[in-house]
Amino acid sequence: MATDNLWLRAQQQLKKTAKLGSFDPLFLAHLEEPERIIQLSLPFQRDNKKVEIIKGYRVQHNNARGPYKGGLRYHSQVSMDEVKALAFFMTIKNAVVGVPFGGGKGGITIDPKTLSVDELERLTRLFARRLTPSIGPTIDVPAPDVNTNPMIMSWILDEFKVQSSKLKVKLKKHETQAVVTGKPLDKGGSAGRTEATGLGGAITLVEIMRRLKKNPKKMTVAIQGFGNVGRFIARFLQEEGFKIVALSDSKGGIYIPKGIPDTEQIQKCKELKGFLAGCYCIGSTCDLTNKERVSGRDITNDEILTLPVDILIPSALENVINKKNAPKIQAKYILEMANGPTTHEADKILEQKGVTIIPDVLANAGGVAVSYFEWYQNMQNEKWTKNKVFKKLKTYMTEATDAVFDMHKQHKGASLRDAAYLVALKRLEEAYKQ
Ligand code: NAP
Repeated sequence: MATDNLWLRAQQQLKKTAKLGSFDPLFLAHLEEPERIIQLSLPFQRDNKKVEIIKGYRVQHNNARGPYKGGLRYHSQVSMDEVKALAFFMTIKNAVVGVPFGGGKGGITIDPKTLSVDELERLTRLFARRLTPSIGPTIDVPAPDVNTNPMIMSWILDEFKVQSSKLKVKLKKHETQAVVTGKPLDKGGSAGRTEATGLGGAITLVEIMRRLKKNPKKMTVAIQGFGNVGRFIARFLQEEGFKIVALSDSKGGIYIPKGIPDTEQIQKCKELKGFLAGCYCIGSTCDLTNKERVSGRDITNDEILTLPVDILIPSALENVINKKNAPKIQAKYILEMANGPTTHEADKILEQKGVTIIPDVLANAGGVAVSYFEWYQNMQNEKWTKNKVFKKLKTYMTEATDAVFDMHKQHKGASLRDAAYLVALKRLEEAYKQ
């Protein structure tokens, strides 16, 4: 069966996990397909007056544990099957990390880099107007994902306010803000949301290395993807003493075998140039390469996956680790910060090679944990400090990591991915019983 289709892969994983536990078949049937699928047609005029019809989606997979919750992705490859799979992953992830949300996901099939800011705003506002009857603080709560950001969330919030008052939806002002998370701070966003996914992944990795008695200072790391997630996990792991040796974005990457001295500087370089390639020769990085005669060099996005490193962190898109490159992967640990980066075939190959995969539904759950904190603050009209948010995030991520590890120990032969799914299915089944 072709498993680069993310939805087929999600269904395969559900079947595999079902066999490892004894679950009620009726409960499992609730997870097999999304509860609701919304497909939108978005007629849209470019600045040059050309009219296009763009496709938009929102999939509400399951709300047994709370309102549907999940990001909105703007990408040329967005398809219904991809959104269905990502919504299913959210149902699982929210249960693993223990937040009272179900799973949802949405997206628009567009490359936003081809849009002007005005075009992006017009398209987003149209999408939000069409979505309004189906979303809301206690119904479905979107958030940022690939190529979406706090600005886009604030446009959605604006449109929701206007449309929901027309529809006579009764909500207090602070509750209305809870319709989306990942908002700018002055629109009800939470301190620490931007860093949350990267920090959550770093907390999980540190916790796992502690359990395995590995010293971070001796571990080298390559990170594919240098957007919201990649940039922050690079920073937090560097603070923990891991040696980041390679980074990449959609246009390629950089490799400095002796370690990138300061990933913040690389971020500044990318902001200036628009891409990472060549950023190994800036400020102290370049000084260091000159002094020690260690050459940094540009690498491709394929090459970064097979470098001789201890830890590989895919933080861009799905299916990047597949049966073609899995045999060549040299890392001993893979921390899945992207959603669905490893195909089913690659999973098997890597398991045989003894590679430990820390699955996406655990590794990148920090984002949705802080989204829950943001939603909670809006609903209760509270404002937490970044310190409080980070402390709570640590508690949620550590508890989730413990639950997955304990399940992994109980079920001999179950991978960490299987264990995470078992934790989620047990919690979801409990919600159904109640
Ligand atoms: P983002 O800010 O849009 O960044 C994506 C990064 O991936 C960018 O650096 C982009 O390059 C790079 N990229 C795109 N196509 C690539 C390719 N073919 N090869 C290598 N790199 C490529 O998105 P994000 O929010 O960081 O999300 C990244 C992943 O994490 C996604 O799978 C997302 O679903 C998952 N995730 C995100 C969150 C969150 O809170 N943001 C939470 C959970 C999971 P450019 O910089 O050149 O565009």
